[in-house]
Amino acid sequence: MKTIIEPFKIKSVEPIRFTTLEEREAILELAFNNLFLVPAEGVLIDLLTDSGTSAMSADQWAGMMRGDESYAGARSFYRFEAKVRELTGFRYIIPTHQGRAAEKILFSITGGKGKFVPNNSHFDTTRANVEFTGAEAIDLPCTEGRDPDLIADFKGNMDLEGLARFIRNTGRSNIPLCMMTVTNNSGGGQPVSMANIKATKELCARNGIPLFLDACRFAENAYFIKLREPGYEDRTVESIAQEMFAHADGATMSAKKDALVNMGGFLAMNDESLATRARNILIVTEGFPTYGGLAGRDLEAIAQGLDEIVDEHYLQYRIRSVEYLGERLTREGVPILQPPGGHAIYLNARKFLPQIPVDQYPGQALSLELFRAGGIRSAEIGSVMFGKYDRDGKLIPARMELVRLAIPRRVYTQSHIDYVIEAVLDVYKRRSELRGVRIIEEPPILRHFTAKFAKVE
Ligand SMILES: *Cc1c(COP(=O)(O)O)cnc(C)c1O
Repeated sequence: MKTIIEPFKIKSVEPIRFTTLEEREAILELAFNNLFLVPAEGVLIDLLTDSGTSAMSADQWAGMMRGDESYAGARSFYRFEAKVRELTGFRYIIPTHQGRAAEKILFSITGGKGKFVPNNSHFDTTRANVEFTGAEAIDLPCTEGRDPDLIADFKGNMDLEGLARFIRNTGRSNIPLCMMTVTNNSGGGQPVSMANIKATKELCARNGIPLFLDACRFAENAYFIKLREPGYEDRTVESIAQEMFAHADGATMSAKKDALVNMGGFLAMNDESLATRARNILIVTEGFPTYGGLAGRDLEAIAQGLDEIVDEHYLQYRIRSVEYLGERLTREGVPILQPPGGHAIYLNARKFLPQIPVDQYPGQALSLELFRAGGIRSAEIGSVMFGKYDRDGKLIPARMELVRLAIPRRVYTQSHIDYVIEAVLDVYKRRSELRGVRIIEEPPILRHFTAKFAKVE
């Protein structure tokens, strides 16, 4: 059969609340035009993030009941540890309450003033955790990854020449580690090839720099390798993932992505002395090493989720449903970041709304209108999230102005996606009427979460 279907039956359902246009306008006003400040009850289709929003399986829920809540040495920890070790091959497995906790621990040990951390593209929390220590976070995406319209297989790749130059100019002793984000979230959910992971590792190894994977979407990345990289078509996704990890010295992971759970993460590595220092911090900030920031039942759900995520029927449905959304929008002329990524479609707001200057945040304006028109919550990935100010207070804009439609795992069906397509096309028809926004209040770090906006009249 050609039709790709959701590879699950639905056993438990959650109603969604419909709102009127007037209600949504009132909701936006109360939330100061920041979708992070909108109560989820007022959202019809929530594409804010794919993080922690997965639907768990019957087996994961059963695992929750089996969870061993012993303080030390819980059975659930050993199941979790064995599963993560089987998948990643790393010797030391440290559970944390989510991905950023793993980052916080890793960079508080390795970061600090005068240090530099290169990455194909830092995710926002990764960048914040590097910078919080006084170190600098450097993005080195490959050339193809900088062109939003170019269709290429592995736009998430690291710029290898750039990395070599960066190491030469910065000095290896100032680079405590190199990160590689798979898939490249800030770069559009684009995959990284095995060849690029391998070459990055070789370059790092020659300079004595450890390579860490930011492995949040390792299974989606592995599936893209299977589809697109010669030599991998007959391999299982699990064995491809194992090979990806084998090229690294450690990993941070948000289990809220490719472990199909609502909370959790881990830090893993081969270096014993680094692991010892990490565990010392873990005990102060997260918890005892056999539970980290998690309950035993969470560890069970992660172990089970890591089994389910590499299922190829699941990954085929997952990658295809995102691609379907991208195809339908592209066919109608809507500018999106090409090609569709693994977990999200990114609308190119700069092209969608060319009349709005970057300092009036076209991405924010577009995401607000999608909510107003269709009750769809998306995320601005542009100058609200990544913009900075120069000394005169003038905006240094982000490289791209994107609006991310992130698809939660196993939550929405094809008709939900068809509704999203209709809503985006409706806004696209009226795009010339849209106006920008200005910031009326903002915090100094990770401002997109809490900043307040007003519409420009
Ligand atoms: C989500 C994410 C993180 C942070 O994980 P949290 O669980 O949200 O703290 C880090 N890196 C990438 C690439 C992510 O997508």
